[in-house]
Amino acid sequence: MLQPLINDFLSLIYPSCCPACQNLLMKHESLICNTCLLTLPRLKNNPVQEQQLEHTFAGRVTLHHSGALFAFEKSGRVQKLLHTIKYKQHRLLASYLGQMMGVECYENRGLSGIDYIVPVPLHPKKLRARGFNQSEYIGKGLAQSLGAELVSNGLMRQTETKTQTRKFQFERWENVKDVFVINPLKSELFKGKHILLVDDVITTGATIEAACIALQSVPDIRLSIIALAYALKA
Ligand SMILES: [Zn+2]
Repeated sequence: MLQPLINDFLSLIYPSCCPACQNLLMKHESLICNTCLLTLPRLKNNPVQEQQLEHTFAGRVTLHHSGALFAFEKSGRVQKLLHTIKYKQHRLLASYLGQMMGVECYENRGLSGIDYIVPVPLHPKKLRARGFNQSEYIGKGLAQSLGAELVSNGLMRQTETKTQTRKFQFERWENVKDVFVINPLKSELFKGKHILLVDDVITTGATIEAACIALQSVPDIRLSIIALAYALKA
């Protein structure tokens, strides 16, 4: 009896806002307002952008499925959500959206039969500064809704060395300052399995592609990728 009154009282002192549109949340809403839940721009509603994402990786890495929940727009609501996760360290929002992504993308048969979910790791320096890897928390929610297992440390990010710089002389690699390696303890686990790599946002695709290249060395592995948002190229 008392709890609803306390909640109402608390919401008067600390009103919670929807991180996407900044409007006050109603009593029956949690984390994101209902209007945003319904109207945030889904990538699946834009076949041109969806195809562009697929074509980004064509001929570079073999992917079973590539997808994203939202279409990213600069200064738009999706960017605000991503910023809230990253800079306000909103872990709950990350896993909530990961779960939503799993539910909404599950209809796509490419996402069935996933064995393991592997988040794109942060550079250790960034991880220390931020305190958490947003992709890992997105992966937690995704794992719940897909019924797959999250392997947080499946990949490791190595700092750039001179040898690695010489190895990748293609233009595409210029912006990838880090190189990924498989955690040697996990390569046996990944043999013959379907791995879903998860990141918060895909822009050029170079980062997630570098992560795929590291995983491709595992025999009979199948790879899919997914992100909360995909930024359309201009
Ligand atoms: Zn909203």
